[in-house]
Amino acid sequence: MTIKKHLLNWYAKHQRVLPFRGSNNPYHIWISEIMAQQTQIDTMIPYYERWMSVFPTIESVANASEVEILKMWEGLGYYRRARFIHQAAKKIMNDYQGVFPHEYEEVRSLPGIGDYTAGAIMSIAFNSAVVAVDGNVVRVISRLYGIHENPSKRTTLDIIKNHMAPFLDNENNHLLTQAWMELGALVCTPKNPKCNDCPLKSFCYANQYNKQSELPMVVKKSLIKKEFYDVILNFSDETIFMSLDDSDGLMQGMYRLPQVSETIREERPVFVSKHIYSHKTWAMNVFVNQLDNTENVIPIKIKELKNVPIITAHKKIIDKIIKR
Ligand code: SF4
Repeated sequence: MTIKKHLLNWYAKHQRVLPFRGSNNPYHIWISEIMAQQTQIDTMIPYYERWMSVFPTIESVANASEVEILKMWEGLGYYRRARFIHQAAKKIMNDYQGVFPHEYEEVRSLPGIGDYTAGAIMSIAFNSAVVAVDGNVVRVISRLYGIHENPSKRTTLDIIKNHMAPFLDNENNHLLTQAWMELGALVCTPKNPKCNDCPLKSFCYANQYNKQSELPMVVKKSLIKKEFYDVILNFSDETIFMSLDDSDGLMQGMYRLPQVSETIREERPVFVSKHIYSHKTWAMNVFVNQLDNTENVIPIKIKELKNVPIITAHKKIIDKIIKR
């Protein structure tokens, strides 16, 4: 039996039941793939189900306001993903009469859709002969074929795609894409891969030479930057002051508390809050009712807070203060 047969047989028996699995609706595949980027599957499933109940069609996304879209994404982080979905939905309505495009280049040109997502949509929804290479697939193929190259380089991705290309056909591309990813998620895991349970163990370079821990090649990540801020929470019984300042380039369209670089103040902060992003950490001294400048702040009724999208770092602070 070939690698492909082993892989597809294993997938038929062991795939997880997921709300978007089995669907060939490109809208479902698209939203699930974007949500799954940077987010664990277990975490994103309730978000996916809620999104689909509120926005069942591309048209409903296009017709929603940005605030509604961001509110639905609140807590998932990387809000640019949600704004790109909104922009892409409008483009699909305007340029493709609401029908998800069927050509790779058209899909790839939609806002927020890169090579991986385009490959996943084209192969899973349309069974096109295209590969989709995410982190799980990089790991499986690097170990299977002994690829000792930096996986963040485009040339390495090309090597990986070249290994996958011969498996493409006219029938099973939708299954193959999902099978590679599922094997990486369930069996060929970053630590302690379950090689004894792997359908590809007899073909695998890493298994044969005991190189699982060396592949894929690990490239040192740059140090995570720590940033220090003062966050000011000004509120009365009914109103809280928020801001839409996104001059740091993060989270456009999301509400936040007024925040400035850390300064020397006489008062002590009420507490210090920390929020970790993938590439930096915010350490925030929280002060209450000490706003020096009310320019560019927006009063929001406390009872309306549940309807506005708020960055997670500050939502945690508001929740904590309100509970107190
Ligand atoms: Fe990964 Fe082990 Fe399977 Fe090789 S045998 S593909 S290292 S799980």
